[in-house]
Amino acid sequence: MKTEPATLRIQADTWDFRARLLGWYDAHARDLPWRRDQDPYRVWLSEIMLQQTRVAAVIEHYHEFLRRFPTVEKLAAAREASVLAAWSGLGYYRRARMLHAAAKVVTKKLGGRFPTTAEALLDLPGIGRYTAAAIASIAFGEAVAVVDGNVERVLQRISGQQLSGEKFWNAAGELLDRERPGDFNQAMMELGATVCTPRGPSCLTCPVVDLCATRGELADTPKTAPQKKGEIHYALHFRDTDGSNGKVFLVQRARDASLMAGMWELPEIEVLTGKKQVPRFTLNDKSEESKQAPRFVRDDKRKRSHHKSNGRATPIFMVRHSITVTDYTVRVWQGETPRAISGQWILVERLNRLPLTGLARKILRKAEILQD
Ligand code: SF4
Repeated sequence: MKTEPATLRIQADTWDFRARLLGWYDAHARDLPWRRDQDPYRVWLSEIMLQQTRVAAVIEHYHEFLRRFPTVEKLAAAREASVLAAWSGLGYYRRARMLHAAAKVVTKKLGGRFPTTAEALLDLPGIGRYTAAAIASIAFGEAVAVVDGNVERVLQRISGQQLSGEKFWNAAGELLDRERPGDFNQAMMELGATVCTPRGPSCLTCPVVDLCATRGELADTPKTAPQKKGEIHYALHFRDTDGSNGKVFLVQRARDASLMAGMWELPEIEVLTGKKQVPRFTLNDKSEESKQAPRFVRDDKRKRSHHKSNGRATPIFMVRHSITVTDYTVRVWQGETPRAISGQWILVERLNRLPLTGLARKILRKAEILQD
């Protein structure tokens, strides 16, 4: 007689659950590039890229990143600016820095060989419990379960239990297929991503519907916090140059900035609130109207560096951009060339080799300075 799992109660034995889930995964798994082999470097890279990033965006960057850095040794030997440039567009740049740091550890301290257990993988920079378990199970076949948001949702719905914290890990470990842990982990995540979705799960096509306690009716899963709204302003300065395709004025974020440290972006300006926003770049003008004028700000420490010119600024376009939990309306202005900001005129042909923030890239594309 089979014993009931200590943490998880499902309506049949776990063997049945595993067989149904793996059978479905074998037949219906999405053909994703990192699933084509179990190379630990590729598994690791995909897992880091997939953190907080959509699969479609990762596919776009995964091939290019591997083209530039096909091995962990090549990645370790690269300059940080090149790694950040290859990461540009994925956001959360700390991941790229940690990836680079971990590549150096693997190459210099471990002779190019990845640790093969989740416990040992945890010692590498940027690798947490989820990522360590994912790499160990997928690349090395270690019987350790993963828990991410998709797995949590599936576990709660099939069991009808409100779980939290360590109980998720225990429940996932009880269900895990020890013969095929990597496939099982990916199958759980795939089920959550494609069938047992947050809103409107497709229970009619679910391979484990007969074993599910809720069939989508466990409504009280934690709600994600609503996105905040914000407005930010940037100045776009472009000049034609003889014999090249122009230059654009960019500033580099502080090396110790909390977000996107060392990346390049357009100068941020601040529009003082008032009855209307007046597009001038000066604060030297004492008129009422200039009290609402945009001001340059230097970096994320908000040290201000006011522009000395009296020239008018013109709004040129607007884009929308999300950073963590805030949806920004981004207004882009054109005005006289800045004199009081420490930035650089960058040749357009160099832009693709520079670590640009995702927002800078978006603005430069919209302005048709950068091509897609
Ligand atoms: Fe999710 Fe519905 Fe499948 Fe249950 S039956 S696991 S709620 S998709």
